[in-house]
Amino acid sequence: MSNNIVTSGKAPRISSGTDTIFADEEACLALLAEEKWRNGFVCRKCGHDNFCHGKKPFSRRCTRCKTEESATAHTAFHRCKIPLVEAFQIAFVICSNPEISTYEISRMTEIRQMTCWKFKSKIQECLTDETKAKSLKMILNKID
Ligand SMILES: [Zn+2]
Repeated sequence: MSNNIVTSGKAPRISSGTDTIFADEEACLALLAEEKWRNGFVCRKCGHDNFCHGKKPFSRRCTRCKTEESATAHTAFHRCKIPLVEAFQIAFVICSNPEISTYEISRMTEIRQMTCWKFKSKIQECLTDETKAKSLKMILNKID
């Protein structure tokens, strides 16, 4: 299921403390889903609160209108080009050190600077939204 995700030993080790919780793509999705639906599922389209599992891992599908919501939708990690494991690590670095340059992140992760820059902008945008910022911090706090 996660065969297109790079989980080799080449993955960046920005902080050794993040290894266990950010084990793989699915662990990241599980965290996102857990945080997103902490107070239960409510369909964004019709407001229904009953769901079944969607097609993608950890996504939920409304049983009334059949709208599926992925774990990453409406989060800073939506349509993220960076594999989630690395994206989580980068988000953690940015949150704990907002002054860090995208050149520095790029050097640490070997991810193109432009990709890092776009992701950093997304994280910063997320941090200006109180609800999203709170969710992001809840997720990143789990590694403490
Ligand atoms: Zn619905």
